[in-house]
Amino acid sequence: MIDTHCHIAGDEFVADLADVVARAQAAGVDRAVCILAADEPAELDRAAAVRAAWPTVRFAAGIHPHASGRYAGRADQSAATARAALASIGDAVALGEIGLDYHYDFAPKDVQREVFAAQVALAVETDLPVVIHTREAMDDTVDVLRAAGQGRVRGVIHCFTGSSDDARRALDLGFYISFSGILTFPRADLLREAARLVPLDRLLVETDAPFLAPVPHRGQRNEPAWVVQTLAALAAVKGLSVAAAGDAVLGNTERMF
Ligand SMILES: [Zn+2]
Ligand SMILES: [Zn+2]
Repeated sequence: MIDTHCHIAGDEFVADLADVVARAQAAGVDRAVCILAADEPAELDRAAAVRAAWPTVRFAAGIHPHASGRYAGRADQSAATARAALASIGDAVALGEIGLDYHYDFAPKDVQREVFAAQVALAVETDLPVVIHTREAMDDTVDVLRAAGQGRVRGVIHCFTGSSDDARRALDLGFYISFSGILTFPRADLLREAARLVPLDRLLVETDAPFLAPVPHRGQRNEPAWVVQTLAALAAVKGLSVAAAGDAVLGNTERMF
């Protein structure tokens, strides 16, 4: 199994990274994609420790929408920063996470859009898939992906929390859709309905650790081992065995990254 989106180079995992990796491997999660904040040097530096602790981990880096306010009026600098982070990783498998977050609104919307567009243009130039964070911003996300992506951008909508219609629009763009532990929450019936509509060959699963721990770990620090619960929830939605769902997700992951 693979956790396609976690932040294990973050502060939260410094003290016990080896234990976190051991628990993931014991749970059958033998791989992960570690998302790095391209403009946080301490986190980029910790990628080496993550790589040493878990050699099968792959990396992605980008400017998160929450950080885009730093680049008001200089979106080109956000692309330069992401480019430098990708170069420091060397074998990055994706550009991200990038996107738009109108829920928290940490940066003005127009600045978020400019930075996002610059990141998407960089993805096209470097031929990397994108990992998209979008919250209450699906219309603008689709617009930027169409305009800056020039029909050539590919990738995944991570931690999908949208409607069935949002899922349809992402699929129409050729994107994969990744579900997090929210899929296990009792009140997430609409999300499970959306997951039911996504074809098996477009589904991914993730933890987004340290955030969004699935049932029965809700409220705790999340970690890659617990992607198993989300995969089980997805398998139930699709009427598949966990093994069959895991094989499908792994195949999708290999095609996407
Ligand atoms: Zn995110
Ligand atoms: Zn994330």
